[in-house]
Amino acid sequence: MDFQSLKNTDVKGKIVLLRADLNVPASEGNITDTTRIDRLKPTIDFLTAQGAKTLILSHFGRPKGVTPEFSLKFMLPALEKSWGVKVGFADDCIGALAEAAKAALQNGAVTLLENVRFHPEEEKNDASFTKQLAALGDIYCNDAFSAAHRAHASTEGLAHFLPACAGFLMEAELNALTAALENPSRPVMAIVGGAKISTKLSVLDNLVRKVDYLFLGGGMANTFMYAQGIEVGKSLCEKDMADEARKIMATAKAANCEILLPTDRVTITEFRENAPFEIYAAADMPAEREAVDVGPATIEMMKEKLANCKTVLWNGPLGVFEVKPFDKGTNGAADTVAALTKAGKIVSVAGGGDTVSALEHAGCADDFTYVSSAGGAFLEWMEGKPLPGVEALSSQKKAA
Ligand code: AMP
Repeated sequence: MDFQSLKNTDVKGKIVLLRADLNVPASEGNITDTTRIDRLKPTIDFLTAQGAKTLILSHFGRPKGVTPEFSLKFMLPALEKSWGVKVGFADDCIGALAEAAKAALQNGAVTLLENVRFHPEEEKNDASFTKQLAALGDIYCNDAFSAAHRAHASTEGLAHFLPACAGFLMEAELNALTAALENPSRPVMAIVGGAKISTKLSVLDNLVRKVDYLFLGGGMANTFMYAQGIEVGKSLCEKDMADEARKIMATAKAANCEILLPTDRVTITEFRENAPFEIYAAADMPAEREAVDVGPATIEMMKEKLANCKTVLWNGPLGVFEVKPFDKGTNGAADTVAALTKAGKIVSVAGGGDTVSALEHAGCADDFTYVSSAGGAFLEWMEGKPLPGVEALSSQKKAA
């Protein structure tokens, strides 16, 4: 991926429009997870140390026009705490208020502009809105990988109106993802879990063309097992997706990708925390039971296969990890990948949906090589789709 890095961009005294993703989880005005904010610190440190004048653009939630509950203002204390700098605020991202904030900016100062989605033109990637944003700055720095699957004014459009570069978080995400899928050390194993295959068909279809092993867990493994005539009992299973599962298996075979399915399963008859469970080999699953996790033999099988792998890419939990003890399969697999990563034997990259919380729950998130803070963008990248925000950065570099 060819793009201009912030590292090599002369920002001293320049006004940098920094697209960040401050769409953080919050409840009643409190930010419940500051990961996305904390990960922007290297970019903020660089911009302030270099004497840039930084104007931050971000969306938050899905407001319909100006909607006070989606204002970004409440996050100023959290930004200042995480970044260790004073952060100013303007009540609009364009027009007189934004212009006044721009005029007041000193070298090394940081100001946050109000939610870009208060203007419906943002999501339409409207050219005249984008020009108004562009008029505020000298340089566009995109550090919002997690919003790069959207072709909006502040995530894509601006790269066509200003010299553009990738911030450090964007760069770290792209380097990690490239190392895992585009240019990985082989063999590569993709571990995919989660509830349903219907939401991840394109992900699976792309992965089997690129990886050496595809390990399937979670509810979606049941659909693949059902498609092979294996009993799934009362487990979550999309029977109408059996043909799609068979197609993916055929594509995998043609591409020399081995699909690994659970060899044993943790089963219950009544779903609740600490419900009594029994473990059955895949072939022996009784019709009246429900599989809610992969069993210990499956984790052993995964371990054996992983011993020969150099790269692991992970999305989705292997069981109903939110309810104990059905987190054991996910935890066991996470421990295994974390230990191999710590031993320097594999590169491990994880992300998308519930994956981050599953790895945090397992206490392993810090031991992976890289855990992406992106949800939808990570999944679209796993599908092999071009991400408009990233494409715009690299096409500008090519044109330069
Ligand atoms: P996804 O968003 O597709 O990654 O799915 C995540 C959800 O899949 C989590 O909430 C898990 O509880 C659920 N899940 C994982 N394994 C199973 C299973 N065997 N049966 C039902 N749900 C599952």
